[in-house]
Amino acid sequence: MTTGTKSPDGVVTAGNADTEVNAREPLAELYRDLRTSPHGLAGREAARRLIVYGANELTRHTGRRWPSELLSQFTQPLAILLAVAAGLAWAGGTPALAIAVVAVILLNAGFAFVQEMQAEHAVDALAAFLPATAWVVRDGVRAEIPARDLVPGDVLIVVEGGRVSADARIIDGDVTVDLSALTGESVPADRSAGPTVVTGSLLDAHDLVFSGTTCTGGEATTVVTRTGMHTELGRIAALSQRGAAQPSPLETQVRRATWIIAVVAVTVGVAFLPVGVWAGLGWSAAISFSIGLIVANVPEGLLPIITLALAVGVRELARKGAVVKRLSAVETLGSTTVICTDKTGTLTENRMTVTRMWLPGAEIDATGRADDRRAVILAAAAAACTSAHPPTDVEPAGSGDPTELALLRLAAHQDAAVQPALRDANRLAIFHFDAHLKRMTSVDDTAAGVAVHTKGAPETVLPCCTGLDEPTRRDLQQTIDRYAAGGLRVIAVAHRVLAAGEIAPVRRDDAETGLTLLGLVAMVDPARAGVADAVASAHRAGIRIHVITGDYGPTAAAIAHQVGIGRTAGRTVTGDDLDRLSDADLDHLVAGDDEIVFARASPEAKLRICEALRACGNIVAMTGDGVNDAPALRHADIGVAMGRSGTDVAREAATMVLTDDNFATIVTAVDAGRRVFANVRKFVLYIFAHAVPEVVPFLIFALSGGAIPLPLTVLQILAIDLGTETLPALALGREPAEPGLMDRPPRSRRTGVIDRKLLLRAWLLLGGVSALLVMGGYLYTLTRAGWHPGDPTGPGTALHQAYLQATTITFAGIVACQIGTAFAARTDRAALFTIGVFSNRLLLWGILFELVFTAAVIYTPWLQHIFGTTALNAAQLAVIVPFPFIVWGVDEAARRVARRR
Ligand code: ATP
Repeated sequence: MTTGTKSPDGVVTAGNADTEVNAREPLAELYRDLRTSPHGLAGREAARRLIVYGANELTRHTGRRWPSELLSQFTQPLAILLAVAAGLAWAGGTPALAIAVVAVILLNAGFAFVQEMQAEHAVDALAAFLPATAWVVRDGVRAEIPARDLVPGDVLIVVEGGRVSADARIIDGDVTVDLSALTGESVPADRSAGPTVVTGSLLDAHDLVFSGTTCTGGEATTVVTRTGMHTELGRIAALSQRGAAQPSPLETQVRRATWIIAVVAVTVGVAFLPVGVWAGLGWSAAISFSIGLIVANVPEGLLPIITLALAVGVRELARKGAVVKRLSAVETLGSTTVICTDKTGTLTENRMTVTRMWLPGAEIDATGRADDRRAVILAAAAAACTSAHPPTDVEPAGSGDPTELALLRLAAHQDAAVQPALRDANRLAIFHFDAHLKRMTSVDDTAAGVAVHTKGAPETVLPCCTGLDEPTRRDLQQTIDRYAAGGLRVIAVAHRVLAAGEIAPVRRDDAETGLTLLGLVAMVDPARAGVADAVASAHRAGIRIHVITGDYGPTAAAIAHQVGIGRTAGRTVTGDDLDRLSDADLDHLVAGDDEIVFARASPEAKLRICEALRACGNIVAMTGDGVNDAPALRHADIGVAMGRSGTDVAREAATMVLTDDNFATIVTAVDAGRRVFANVRKFVLYIFAHAVPEVVPFLIFALSGGAIPLPLTVLQILAIDLGTETLPALALGREPAEPGLMDRPPRSRRTGVIDRKLLLRAWLLLGGVSALLVMGGYLYTLTRAGWHPGDPTGPGTALHQAYLQATTITFAGIVACQIGTAFAARTDRAALFTIGVFSNRLLLWGILFELVFTAAVIYTPWLQHIFGTTALNAAQLAVIVPFPFIVWGVDEAARRVARRR
């Protein structure tokens, strides 16, 4: 592989292996060596080079990871604990138990491994939802292509906010780049065309840009020298390796809970040892019962099921238009309390149409052709001051800022159409749109001479204008307010024609002065369909929405009002007001119930607002699309970037990327987050609940000093653990949202997934009722056979068959109660009927499997032999048939009482 090395004569070379070129050689030679030109490659040539050089991708060194991953499942602390138990069982002379415990270990390891692989796969697959693209010149025209199709020799255009997708030499323009991905330093570096002497690293070369870096300002045309693994990024092999995934707070919490339960299980198991011996069991039997207790109560399967539930959530969200980058984001989404959103493009369509024009002393409907000559000059000036590209056959949507596209359309409509190629060729200087200044200026060579064209927010353009008398200013302000109240976006356009021989200004300050106002243009940007509904559902879910926009206050307030934001309690705070607020005042402002429109806000304002909201204990989802939004996106609990209109910089900083740029998708994501969290609670509830009827029989045996024989054998416990528990738990993870989930206030940040309410419901209500039923069934079966406490029931005694039947009743009874628990766990508050008894197909299959497995254990002779069961007759089965209904019914009644309250 070629690397960016210095040859003995100190020349830095670059290029893919077979295009060894010197990236620093004179441009003409570089074009020759790369067999390209400033007009780019021909499409067919590019296709051919793609075959020769391969895709512009970093190949991941995954290797054969799975054997080690699988192996690591066996070195988990819980697996080791179980292995020790198996060893003890073997030493204690119960090989069947040892084998069963080993089976538990194997099954759990396999299960966890498959779940983790699936989870990883789900995250990997997200890349397909966010394809990286690049702007190139091919066949002489600009085109957007998948970044993986870039080849050496391509003319690549690097724009503000974009990711640089290959190593390239700048041939025109200048940019600031963030090299931190390569150098670790986040100080932006200036890069521009023209050779400079470089001693030192290739990365310091002033006219080179590198794959994996981002452009934070400016625009440049470059020629690609290296792609894929041949780039500097490709060389840094470590970068292509996956970093270790951080466990989510949910996983950390559950891991902790699992440990607490494991400690409790071991303590109970060990404590049972002397009690068991005292109650009449031999040491060997007591040991095996202890082991059974431990194995039954350690919730090994919990973590993998949670990881899977999160992964399923991630995959589903991606399909709905929200790509989240971390599993844990799904859970954070569910507790979102505040959404801070942009206006343009998120609440609105970002499809602007100029509808009105104001000229000094006249107002014109811009949807028709204007008679006024001044309207044509206004439209032409506005269109000259753009860098967008109108739609063409190759690019039917056009490219660039929608505001500018609207101005280009206006110009075409008013017979003042602008050819982008001519516009760019005649441009002497450009001062790009600045989010702080809120205006943009170009200096152009026109038929009338060299002219300065400025357009932007009226309050920032008017101060640059001269010759406006007081009545005109008043008229202007009234017009602006009237347009804004109708939700229109207003742009002021001004110009200055330079005197013959006057030198064109090169500094922004010199250009944006002494301008003459040409007029105003007002454009509509309709609210997106579905946003009003999404706002309403966010409100029902107790989520507040603030709008943070660069647009004018009244315009933003009108749009906010249209979609229902701040309708009951809203206010507008301008950027200037915000700057005057102290941090304490801002905290106070956002702590209230108002929904606030922060208008004319600078990008830094987002960060300040985010900090204030978080200081008040909020979980903040914050949208953003520009380079300047990156800090706020990183700082928010959920940074949301726009997949279509957003910059790569914003996409990289965000936790979630909306592939449809739609506000409504944020609310959908919150909904999904809440559902995933609720489902995790459902299967935790289910798994915890069944521990009680497994432990109680042992307690009764011990407390009765052996007068009541053991109601459940160790292997029967393992059968429940191995065979009947997992599938329904998995199915509960796929439960659809229960009604009312989005009608509740957000869950507090402090509420854990396992709280007191859940434990009471699992252990006392569901577990307690199950234990009562199971023990009732057991004692009923024994006493009906004529048993009295203390009577012997061992092999060879008269009561032995009855004892076998009774323990089988306990076993089957627990399974029956599990079924009831599974149905009860399906809802947290709502009645089961509201979601439909049979609406979770997966659960039905899980239960069917559970029943078949149980029947096999009870009725197959060789399994009877292993598990100590015996066939039950119809009358005995009738005892346990009501169990699921009773367990579910009691919980249903409890939920009903809770709902009433
Ligand atoms: P949001 O922050 O919600 O996306 P926005 O797009 O209105 O809203 P900015 O892009 O910061 O916010 O624009 C702020 C103001 O700057 C606009 O109200 C408009 O007056 C002006 N403006 C926007 N785009 C341009 C442009 N390309 N050229 C000149 N002025 C512009």
